[in-house]
Amino acid sequence: MSKIARRKFIQLSAVAAAGCFMQNSREAMADELPKLTLDDPMAQAMKYTHDASTVDAASRVSPAADQNCSNCALIQGADGDEWRPCQIFPGKSVNAAGWCSVWAPQA
Ligand code: SF4
Repeated sequence: MSKIARRKFIQLSAVAAAGCFMQNSREAMADELPKLTLDDPMAQAMKYTHDASTVDAASRVSPAADQNCSNCALIQGADGDEWRPCQIFPGKSVNAAGWCSVWAPQA
């Protein structure tokens, strides 16, 4: 292997390794977010619950049978994860089956 080819190989390897590290860090961050607790003042203000089925549909601004965090426009993270980040509760994760009064339909 020539010096130039070796240098290029080392550069590409470093870029690939950095990409793997960043992907793993992103996934780890989502997993490590603390779960939003029901006694959190912000959660209480937004009427957050871990289980949307316990919310009286009549108390919702836009009553709908299937409103929950997993189909809210403000949920983040990966589909299928039980706990996911939410734009309303930065730094915390919410239950995919949960609900709060800010629920908004996905586009
Ligand atoms: Fe769940 Fe949406 Fe409320 Fe976030 S804003 S807690 S995703 S219902």
